[in-house]
Order: sequence, then C-alpha cells, then structure tokens
Amino acid sequence: MTDTVPPGTDNVRERASAALDAVGATLPVGHGLTARTPITGEDLFELHATTEQETEDAIAAAEAAFRVWRTTPAPARGELVRRLGDLLRAHQGDLADLITIEAGKIRSEALGEVQEMIDICDFAVGLSRQLYGRSIASERPGHRLAETWHPLGVVGVISAFNFPAAVWSWNTAVALVCGDPVVWKPSEATPLISLACGHLVDRAVREVGAPPAVHQVLFGDRRVGEQLVDDSRVALVSATGSTRMGREVGPRVAARFGRCLLELGGNNASVVAPSADLDLALHGVVFAAAGTAGQRCTTLRRLIVHRSIADEFVDRLVAAYRKLPVGDPFAEGTLVGPLVSAAAAEGMRQALEKAVAEGGEVLVGGGARLVDEVPNASYVEPAVVRMPEQSAIVRQETFAPILYVLTYDDFDEAIALHNGVPQGLSSSVFTRDQQEAERFLAADGSDCGITNVNIGTSGAEIGGAFGGEKETGGGRESGSDAWRAYMRRATNTVNYSSELTLAQNVSFL
Ligand code: NAD
Repeated sequence: MTDTVPPGTDNVRERASAALDAVGATLPVGHGLTARTPITGEDLFELHATTEQETEDAIAAAEAAFRVWRTTPAPARGELVRRLGDLLRAHQGDLADLITIEAGKIRSEALGEVQEMIDICDFAVGLSRQLYGRSIASERPGHRLAETWHPLGVVGVISAFNFPAAVWSWNTAVALVCGDPVVWKPSEATPLISLACGHLVDRAVREVGAPPAVHQVLFGDRRVGEQLVDDSRVALVSATGSTRMGREVGPRVAARFGRCLLELGGNNASVVAPSADLDLALHGVVFAAAGTAGQRCTTLRRLIVHRSIADEFVDRLVAAYRKLPVGDPFAEGTLVGPLVSAAAAEGMRQALEKAVAEGGEVLVGGGARLVDEVPNASYVEPAVVRMPEQSAIVRQETFAPILYVLTYDDFDEAIALHNGVPQGLSSSVFTRDQQEAERFLAADGSDCGITNVNIGTSGAEIGGAFGGEKETGGGRESGSDAWRAYMRRATNTVNYSSELTLAQNVSFL
C-alpha cells in the first residue's frame, strides 16, 4: 500500500484559518502557546496563553454566573444546549477539519467525533427535562421523604489531546443542563478546535440570552489546569488524560474536599475464543488497535487469543496490517494518520525495544514512514508483537499503535490475563459461546467499565456511561445517569402532620 503524502504546512495553516473563519472565531494572537499540526509536525500560529490573573477572573465570573444559572429552569438551560447542537451540526465539517489538523485524526473519525458532540447535545436537551429525584417511603406517619437534585457549582474541565472536542462536549452539554457553569482547560496541543468550540458556545449563549460566563475557555499548559485544580470555587474538576496526570490531580482536589471525575489511561484487551466469527473479530480488532493510530483511550492494546486459533488469527492480522494505508489524514483512503508528536513516536520505539528485551517478537510494523517527505512529522507503521507472557511493558499504556498478542488455554486463564493489568477501561470478547459471553460480563468476568461482546474495545456510543476502574480513575461521563456527578443531592423530609414523630421511635421530652 502506498503512503499518501500530506500537504505542506502553509496549506494546513490556510485550511485551519478557513475553518476558523467559517465558524467565526478570531485567533487570540500573542505569546505563550503554539498551535501546531502533527500532519507536518510544524508550527501554525503563536497564541496568547491565559495568564494567572485571567484564570482568576474567569473562575470569579463563573461563580457569579452560577448564581443566575442555578435558578434558571433546567428546560430553559436545555435551550442553550439545543442551540449549541444546531451550531455544531452546521459546522460539522469545519470542526472536523480542525480536529484532523491538531489531533491528526483521519477525516471519517474526525467527523465521527463531531457527531458524538451533536449526539450528546441531543441527549442533554432531553435530560434537561429528566433530572429526576426519588420519592421514598417514610417510616413516619404524615411525613414525605424525597430527594432533589440541585446544580453543583463551577465545573472545571481539563481535557486530553486525542478527543479534543468530544470529551469537552460530554462534560459541557451535561454540566450546562445541570445548572453548572463550565471553565474549560483544553490540551495545549489542541487550542484551535477549543477556540472554535468556545466561539460556538458564546454564540449560542448570546442568542438565548444566558449569562456570558456560563462557559469560558482557558488556553495554556498544565499550570492553568493546576490553578483550576487548587481553587475551592471549582466544585467539580473533571479531568481526562494520563494516569500520571490523575495521580497528581486527584489528591489535590481531595485535599480541599472538592469533587473529582477522573477519566485516565486504558490498557484494553479483547479475548478471541475458538468459537468466534474470525472475520468479524479481525475487522473489530484491526479498527480498535490501529484506528486513530492507536491514540484512543479505548485503543485495543492486548489481544488474548485461544492457542488453537492463535497462529491462523495472527497470520490474518499481520496480512491486514501490511495493507493499512498510512499518511495524510485528509486523504480519502488513509486509515492511519500521524502520531501527535515526536515524543509519542519515541515512546513507541522504546516500548518495542523493551518488548523485544522481554521476549517479544515484532511480527509486523514498528517502522517510521514518510520520513523524507515530512521529516518533522511522526508517521509510524502500527505494530503487532507476539509476547510469551504479560510482561512489564504489556502492563503499561503506551499511547501508540502497538498490539501485544498473548495466548490462553482455558477461559479462566483468559480472564485472569485480561484483568491482570493496573488499568480498567474497555474490554471485549469475541465468542459465539453464550456461557463465555455471559461469564465475561459477570461479576467475576472483565473488571472494566466498558465490557463488550463481539465488538472491539473502542467506539463507544454517548447513551451509555463512559469510564473505567482502577488506574483509569473510576469516573463516568456522557450518558445513562452520569449527570449525577454534576449535581448535588438533597434528601428532604417534610412533616405534614401536627405531631413531631422522631425516626427510629426515639422519644425525647
Ligand atoms: P496528559 O495527561 O498529558 O494531559 C491531559 C490534560 O491534563 C492536558 O490538558 C494537560 O495540560 C493537563 N494536565 C497535565 N498535568 C496536569 C496537572 N498536574 N494538573 C492539571 N492539569 C494537568 O494526556 P494527553 O497526552 O493529552 O492524552 C492522552 C492520555 O489521556 C492517555 O493516557 C489516554 O488514555 C487518556 N485519555 C483518557 C480518556 C478517558 O476517557 N479515560 C479519554 C481520552 C484520553
């Protein structure tokens, strides 16, 4: 398969400017933050980084906006999100361009990311009329017991480069209908798409007459994030990124008794059982492992295949990998775009070296591509590595397209291998054996937050709650009842009798 050579940096810069113009956003020209593109590995624009004082002002403005927003009826808050969803629909192509330019995603995946944003807006609009509390049977006569959900406060959203807009939208659409203003600190690698999203919310805010500070964007590196983390006016810090980041953020928010929602690294696995439909499994595995150039939190990193089918399945996998078109993420037909940075490519190279030192055999991939054509970019061949055991490198998340293959003999062993890593985000089993499928989903099966049958580990829908266990951080975002993390619960006891009856039959006076 021939590689597609990407366009030059000037061309990418023009495309970025055109997308920003179409959205109506103006570049905050200045210093402190560089917008760059992994397509060529070169710089696009110099931008103003948010200062400490500007962050302070933003948090204060959000706190003031909260006082108005929390008593705005939830369906009226939903109108803001409805309008945002309309604007996202109208600019789906422009936003997808910016995602491709900054995160390196191929076109269909970038469009898919914007689709997810539209979907969560639709979901949140419905949610704005469904923030239900429970009515509970009281043990006392003439009493009513109920729970009410109230807005929580300012939500600080810290997001990663690889889903630069979808993760923001999961948090923002839900937080806004829950009555919480949002202060967003996007990844320093993706300021342009953040600028565009921020501009579209500002427009929606103006059109529906919401308080301007219900949504603000802060541009900068982790220092800006740290200011949000340490500020007790930020009621919830929703942070998506590496486990290293979560390990730093979690205790700091806890120290001030703030609320934290952590969405951290994954080390996702699929079990392929002897009864599996191997054509379907192959398709699912290649998309999950090589898609997004291995840069999804749900990317498939470990394949646990039954020994009886391992050789056949791995041969087919290697053949499919050899045909993967690498290169320009804008070009039709490309399936693997660039890695986000040279550091990511170096991380991949080192992981492969360690895997070999730990007894692994690289069956395909691992090399650099398009080195002469785009010397500053990092295009790599997705790799498949057969491992003798689940060694130290296999237990780590390397944010690059490396798929480690392990074999098993019985299903208990497959589950033990599957769960034998520190992370717990996404998992799947390919099988036509109902007992195996149900066992995988059962309490003593996969220990992940996402457990699938006959589908890969990546590509979740917004309707379900998204997140994972163990070092993935335990947070849940997006659909189902994830909204509860953005609200505070009040338990109400109302005495409508003329007696003061104490609970548990306590008598006093
Ligand atoms: P990263 O941890 O380097 O950065 C993520 C964000 O955190 C950035 O905005 C960064 O500026 C900020 N940050 C870093 N250190 C901080 C600190 N000490 N205090 C406050 N903010 C801080 O991650 P990345 O390289 O952008 O993204 C890749 C990682 O994100 C992978 O590990 C991936 O698995 C994970 N991820 C997880 C999910 C999920 O839902 N579980 C989704 C997407 C990405």
